[in-house]
Amino acid sequence: MEFSAASDPGLVRSRNEDSFTLLPRPRGALLAVADGVGGSKAGEVASEIATRTFTELLSNLADEERPDSRRLRSALEAANDRIIAAAKQRAKEQAGMGTTMTSAWLEGGLLAFAHVGDSRLYVYREGAFTCLTHDHSVAGELVRQGTIPPEDAKSHPQRHVLTRALGMSPFTCDEGDARILSGDVVLLCTDGLVSAISEAEIAREIGEGFAGVALRLIDAANRAGGPDNTTVVAVRLGPEDFPRGDAP
Ligand code: MG
Repeated sequence: MEFSAASDPGLVRSRNEDSFTLLPRPRGALLAVADGVGGSKAGEVASEIATRTFTELLSNLADEERPDSRRLRSALEAANDRIIAAAKQRAKEQAGMGTTMTSAWLEGGLLAFAHVGDSRLYVYREGAFTCLTHDHSVAGELVRQGTIPPEDAKSHPQRHVLTRALGMSPFTCDEGDARILSGDVVLLCTDGLVSAISEAEIAREIGEGFAGVALRLIDAANRAGGPDNTTVVAVRLGPEDFPRGDAP
């Protein structure tokens, strides 16, 4: 198993309101990225609460546990409650703060995920690059309804307006699972990456090799102007990560 992860403020924003976590497991990992929203330092606070809660609730799972999106959803729901409580406690600085969170549990060829907001989860397989999440943004919802074509979402004036986030009540989240093969790359990113460079460019960069891919993608986003904070967490499983008899 190989990992690559990095986070960068970009070239326009003065601070980094993204956070991420990566918890190694016996044959995989738990991963999450979060992109905070809110005035002043509130976005940073919200994304940090989200990744800290995720780490706290999921770092002690027994080795024999298998990927289960319900466990991820519970962690996101707990983070949602803590963000709402923190915002109430310090209403002057933190009212209305929130964060996206895209989380995944990868283990022995199984991937489970839970997701709120417009960060994304992708799987790269032999040159094909597939997004497993829907953006919970105004533009993303219009694409999902078929009102606008996907290529128009990137320039839509409300592409950054979230329709769901942790810190918003009521809590709702998307869940799913997928099969992962040896050599696949599972990649989580905040919207800073996909607003700077295209999916085709991301796929091409992954195709160049896995080593250092997170930093290479962030460099590419910054060469394209670095309009937002960018976070990338990527994992590639090898044949040794599959239980005997289960190797693809
Ligand atoms: Mg962002």
